[in-house]
Amino acid sequence: MSTNDDGNDARPADTPSPAPRDPAAQIVGYHAHVYFDADSAESRSAAALVRDRIAAAFPDARLGRWHDRPVGPHTRAMYQIAFASERLDRMLPWLMLNRLGLPVLLHPETGDEYADHADHAAWLGEKLPLKLEVLKRASGSTPETD
Ligand code: ZN
Repeated sequence: MSTNDDGNDARPADTPSPAPRDPAAQIVGYHAHVYFDADSAESRSAAALVRDRIAAAFPDARLGRWHDRPVGPHTRAMYQIAFASERLDRMLPWLMLNRLGLPVLLHPETGDEYADHADHAAWLGEKLPLKLEVLKRASGSTPETD
């Protein structure tokens, strides 16, 4: 009788939960929302600098309008960056290293705005509250403003 104690047991793992769905089939793109304090000159200039640098580094990203007041589900001044799924592997580390301390919400676009912001979102830095009640749970009209 031989015993394999090396820990590399090739036995299939138990799978008590269903396999996750392939996210690539559901995600049509991503948004990054860059938040800033509209009353702080320092925060505003940091946000403007990040925006300029994103425009230079990612010419195919779509920069949304600059919002000095909270809009849609957002509770702080911000602007949106919309980008293709294929850019995530460059955009995410770029934002990690270059956000200048500003909070960033990163979320996929799956057609379910509520889930995208409530369940699927990733935050860099401070996690801010969202007014999730304004978001639709299924695809349809889009209250979120870019
Ligand atoms: Zn968004």
